[in-house]
Amino acid sequence: MLGLFRRAKQPRALPEDELARRLLAPGYRCACCNEVLDAANAVRLRPIGWPHPPAPEPEDALERSGDVITERYARRGRDMLVRAHLPIPVQGTEGHVFLSVWANLSLGDFARFRSAQGRGDADRLGDLFAWLYSRVPASTGPVLTKGLLVPVSEGGMPVYWITDPKHPLHAAQLDGGMSAGDILALYEDLGAAGLVGHLRA
Ligand SMILES: [Zn+2]
Repeated sequence: MLGLFRRAKQPRALPEDELARRLLAPGYRCACCNEVLDAANAVRLRPIGWPHPPAPEPEDALERSGDVITERYARRGRDMLVRAHLPIPVQGTEGHVFLSVWANLSLGDFARFRSAQGRGDADRLGDLFAWLYSRVPASTGPVLTKGLLVPVSEGGMPVYWITDPKHPLHAAQLDGGMSAGDILALYEDLGAAGLVGHLRA
């Protein structure tokens, strides 16, 4: 009965705190289609200059020559790459989203990192200098960005911190973070418009 007196529904932007909740909830179920999302970890970037990388191969593919991509490592030309989590704090929450990016280590550090990962004690290496090897934002992000790869224990995915103050995400990553709405706009820029559609539904 009450429905009779309601005004016609108008599409309205969701408040920031609801967007942030949807972004950070593991296993958030989309309101329109029941799709289950892990939006904080869902966005995976490709290596710079590699528009259409193939599906990841098993890790022993790295032993052969030529360009190779696996879940955790890649070789592109002479560059050895490690997949890493780039955390961005979500404003108004204690949570982060984690972009999955590529980082380029020196050949020596790559070899040391990979064997330490195999032993599960890469955290004992300390921070390693690494170039960010993914473009963020996708079209306007800088190509050469300095940063640190921070290994974690027990073979976990390492964390990447941008140290170059000129990078558009540097300030957001170090302090302040980004609003949920700005993160969704970044996700769209990075090619995750489908995911953003579910989160805004
Ligand atoms: Zn949906």
